[in-house]
Parts: sequence; structure tokens; C-alpha cells
Amino acid sequence: MSVSTLAILGGDRAVPADIRPPAWPAVTEEEQSAVQEVLRSGKLTSAASGERHIPLLEQEWAAAVGTGHCVAVASGTAALTIALAAAGVGRGDEVIVPALSFVGSALAPVHLGAVPVFVDVDPATFNLDVSALGAALSSRTVAVMPVHLHGLPADMDEVLQFAHRHQLAVIEDAAQSHGVPYRGRVTGSIGDLGAFSLNASKNLPTCGEGGLITTDDATLAATARLLRQFGERIPERGERRYVSQLAGWNAKLNPIQAAFTRRQLRRLDEQQRARNHNVRVFLDRIRDLPWLTVPAAPDDRGHGWHLLRFRVRPAAFGLPADTAPTIRAVVSRALRTEGVPVSRYQSMPLPEQPVFQQGRAPYRTAETPVTQAVVDDSFVLQRAHLHPESGPLLHYIACALEKVWKHRGLLADMAAGRNSARNGGRPLVEDDERSRNAG
Ligand SMILES: *Cc1c(COP(=O)(O)O)cnc(C)c1O
Repeated sequence: MSVSTLAILGGDRAVPADIRPPAWPAVTEEEQSAVQEVLRSGKLTSAASGERHIPLLEQEWAAAVGTGHCVAVASGTAALTIALAAAGVGRGDEVIVPALSFVGSALAPVHLGAVPVFVDVDPATFNLDVSALGAALSSRTVAVMPVHLHGLPADMDEVLQFAHRHQLAVIEDAAQSHGVPYRGRVTGSIGDLGAFSLNASKNLPTCGEGGLITTDDATLAATARLLRQFGERIPERGERRYVSQLAGWNAKLNPIQAAFTRRQLRRLDEQQRARNHNVRVFLDRIRDLPWLTVPAAPDDRGHGWHLLRFRVRPAAFGLPADTAPTIRAVVSRALRTEGVPVSRYQSMPLPEQPVFQQGRAPYRTAETPVTQAVVDDSFVLQRAHLHPESGPLLHYIACALEKVWKHRGLLADMAAGRNSARNGGRPLVEDDERSRNAG
């Protein structure tokens, strides 16, 4: 039986050119008419008299998450910053943050003059390693920010235990985990405050940028509400008085975005069910391929499948462990040529970001070898699988992953720098990946 030639060597693509990733977010007539209705109403900011979409989105999201309160804001990063500020985090305070996350998780404390303290992650779940919390603690630690990375809830019971023991606030970064269950609760309702992103790439999107803060605590909610709009209390009816109580920001969501997201919210459960089905069928098919490790999905919690991360095993190619970045780059290039839109999500641990290394922001960190290893040896699928109709695309992506395995000898040669003639003399390990971080 002949094995079809790799596309990098001129063979046919494993993903046929007419199989396009369905666009995300899925924008239907419903969103279009909701947005047009807001435009016709003329109520274009949250302060417009009689505006209802923002308070209704807040009520609907609080009900979906199971918290008493929700405050809509301008972005996920604004949600994190305001949530931290509402919890009392300020200048010189330390906030424990996982070293593997989107940079917004680390910038939120920085914007308050606080110091992110980076801890390593677990090699299977990619979430904050709870056994590393103790070593990160200092007399200045005031909060911990578990991130439900890729949509998988972090080990919240252990985080809460640690936080209670040391009187720390818990701010959940739930930017990638909308509506995901964890041991009978839902992410964003477990810590003191939850912060969600509504960025157009996320599982619950808006038409642009937005964020949501959730909490059960009425005082924290009231403070967050002041902080999103100049520290002002905006009356529901009657005239605005222009009196500031706190040094707040202008971080308001607008009614167009709220109307759009309210429509998306009606489909969130159904979309998540379809995504869960599509992704699990896909992962079950490729789970036994010896060259990659598929994402973990523990039984005691759901998974939002916001990103699918795969770790490449150099040993399966007969290569030593320290070649991980090279074989990952070679395979990624082969996959992209097959039509699989793989990318990297985080090209370095957060403490390596120039903003910290060049001294523009203070930070503290222990060694984070697991984060470094994951950054070195893994690639991700993002966005292409979010749409409920991504099943056919995932089928062909599985074909591509199987095809790559059949050509393992050749790919190992490429990674080891052997056999360059077979590649037409082009550089074999050039890392031409664009980092397409979702934020
Ligand atoms: C997207 C994201 C953020 C930031 O949200 P924005 O809306 O882009 O500001 C923060 N943390 C994580 C984990 C994210 O994925």
C-alpha cells in the first residue's frame, strides 16, 4: 500500500482545500438584527437613559454562572484588573499567577502597582501546580489568580484551601472557560471574583472586545461597578451627577456588544454540547498515536475546549528530549502545509516576556521548568474547532495527524538535520510560526 506523500514534499493536502474552518464567532440574523435595533434606538452607551441590554446581560450571566452579581466591562483584562482592585489589591502587593497563560493575566496586577509572582503549571492539565503555591508565598501575598487555561477548570478546591489558610483573595481568570462545570459549581462562581473575556475569539464572544466580572459579594460587585466608570454611581433614572467616589477607569461595555452577546448566550449551551462531542470524537481517534499527548479531561470537571494543546514526544521519533523545539517546529510546518492551522499559544513563559525581563514591570518567579517544556514541545489548535459544525474539519485534521506519523522517519531526519536533499535544500527547522495569541 502506498503512503501518500507529505504536502511539504509536493503531495496532496490531508485537509482538502474546500474544507474551510467555519467562521467564529457564528454571526446569524439574530445578532445582526439585535445590533441594528440598538443602532436605531440611539442608546449607544451604558449611561443612556433607558438602556437595558447591559443590565440584562449582567442578570443573565449571573444566573448562568450561579452568582448573585455580574458587572460588564470593556475587556477580559479590564475584568481582571477591576476584580483585583475591588478585592483590595494595590501597590506592592503580590499576586500569584501561573507562568503559562495569556499576558493579560500578568498585566492586570501590574496595572495596580502590584507584583505578579509566577508559579509553574502541571504537565498534564497545564493549569497552576497547586504544590508550587507554598514556595510562592511571602508576607506581601494578598491574592492568587488561578487561570482555567484552555477551558479546563484549575484545581479550585486545593486553591481555596490554600487561600483560606493564608487569607488570600481568589480571583478566577475564566477568560477561556465560559459556563464550564467543576465539582457541582461553575467557573467564575468558585473564588471571590471571576473574570471573563468576551473577546471575539472566546467561547462566549461579543462583536469586538468585552468582559464580565462575577461575584456573590454585593460589596465587591458595587465597588467593581464604581471602578468601571470613573468611580461614579450612575443612577438608573434621573440625571447623572458627575461625582467620583473612587479612582475608577472608563472600562464600560457598550449596548451594541451586550445585545450581540445576549444572542450568543442563548446558544452557548448548545454550542458547548456540540463542541464537546466533536472534540471528544476527534481526541478518541488520535489518542493512541504514539507521537503526541492529547489534552487531559479529568472526570470531576468539564472542559470548555477553548484551545486544544498537543505535546509532541521526541522519543516517538527516536530523538532525544532536548530536540523537542526542533521536532515540534518540523511537525508544525508539515501540518500547516497539510492544511492544519496549528500555531503556538505562548512562545515563552510569562516571566520571560520583555515587559518583565527589560525591567518595565516588577515580578517575582521561581523556576518554571514545566512551563518551559510545554512551550517548547507543544502546538495548539485554536478557533477552527469552536464552531458546532467543525466535525468534518476535525476528521481531516485527524487524517493529517495520522499521515504525519506514517512519515515519522523522514520528519525525524529533518529535525536531526539529515537528508536535506529531500527537502529541496530549504531550511528544515526554520520556525516560521506566527504566534496568534487570542487576546
Ligand atoms: C483572552 C484572555 C485574557 C484577556 O482577555 P481580553 O478580553 O483579551 O482582555 C486574559 N486571560 C486569559 C487566559 C485569556 O485567554
